Amino acid sequence: MSKSSDETEDTSDDAQPLCFFVPSKLFIDLKQSSQTRETTKTVAARVLDQMDDAAKKNKSQGLWNIPAREDYDPDNSECRKPFRILIQAIQTGLLGDLADPANNFQKSFYSREEGEEPWSIREPLTGDFEDVAIAKSYHDAVDKCYDNLGIAHEFFLKCFNHNSIDDKGAPLIAVVHYGFSFPCAFYAPSGFDEWQYAFCFGDGWDQLSDMDSESKFFGNFAGSLECVAHEMMHAITHYLVNLEYSGESGALNEHISDTFGMMAEQWHKGHTVKQSDWLIGEDILLPEIRSYVGIDGVTDPEKSYAMKSMKAPGTAYNIKGLGGDNQVCYMKDYKYDLPIDKNHDWGGVHINSGIPNHAFYQFANFLGGNSWDLAGKIWFESLKSEEMYSKCRFLDWARITIKTAKSYKSLTPLSLDENGKENTVASLLRTAWKIVGINTPISILND
Ligand SMILES: [Zn+2]
Repeated sequence: MSKSSDETEDTSDDAQPLCFFVPSKLFIDLKQSSQTRETTKTVAARVLDQMDDAAKKNKSQGLWNIPAREDYDPDNSECRKPFRILIQAIQTGLLGDLADPANNFQKSFYSREEGEEPWSIREPLTGDFEDVAIAKSYHDAVDKCYDNLGIAHEFFLKCFNHNSIDDKGAPLIAVVHYGFSFPCAFYAPSGFDEWQYAFCFGDGWDQLSDMDSESKFFGNFAGSLECVAHEMMHAITHYLVNLEYSGESGALNEHISDTFGMMAEQWHKGHTVKQSDWLIGEDILLPEIRSYVGIDGVTDPEKSYAMKSMKAPGTAYNIKGLGGDNQVCYMKDYKYDLPIDKNHDWGGVHINSGIPNHAFYQFANFLGGNSWDLAGKIWFESLKSEEMYSKCRFLDWARITIKTAKSYKSLTPLSLDENGKENTVASLLRTAWKIVGINTPISILND
């Protein structure tokens, strides 16, 4: 298909949407709310500038070119490991003002190759660390990022037989300490110097000295397996389908990353669908968020706060005077009227994604057991369907998943339908989609 005219007429200051983990809405709210402290407003404005900056750098699309492992042999189990995990730590991110992250991009470079223990730093970090605590957290982020990328890689390989991004063991390239106390993570498919693609993780606000301690919401993003696996799934989706990251297909893209990020955490913890909290990003939010102008107007140290909830989209957080989780759960609440631009979440990619997220939650609960054993396999297989296309809509995705589900059987007995007959995997999936308001004809089960 040829490119549309508005793509070719792109102006030089246009930004390319990036798969940001935290919706920009939260930072816009923080910047605008009268409840927000001045220092927090300043920091929120800086975050939005950094998001803008990253999106502009990502503008040059079409550079997708994974360095292949030359001696890759799919029959050799040793080869079915990521070629390398490369982590670049941006040196001055925590130590000084960083107007342009790209200026500091090449400063220091860490890599650790598979099988090397203890891990080696190719070019040791240099510079003066006045603060020992900061220096420690600096190295922590590299370690955590390495560990989480390794776990995520193992999750995709063991559960879905998919080796790294391209199923050929592509190197996993990540940047930690991105930006200046940047409270977000994203996947950049292109445009970052010679890397061409990278997972970028910010440090969050826990080390930020110019903020009130009560305003420090975000911990380090590289430390969250859910977040790391979410970003890795964006790369896999990009490689398999190239789902356009705006509007309905963008929400689908977000949903797929949320779902696999969630499953990676469940798999790593050994949690069944019943044991899981189905909360996303709860491990990034710091306890301090609870004291922020009284969430829900009450203080409840036992309550969990998160960025998203697959069990109950729209309820993950609610900050008094600021706003809350605005994900929707049902098609009747789908936000159709959002322009496709940075001020409106690129047409609601983090908002409407709650609908398929909840359908997956329902389906996984109907099946019971582990989400990745059956529901996850159907989702992953569906991504590889020939019927997938870059602007895929929810209804088409529902159809594709139901068709895929028809070739899967449950090893444990399923619930009975209204005629007393045992449901099939596909019929339960059709029901799950129906719950969120995505209806497919009954004939889809027999076609
Ligand atoms: Zn995402």
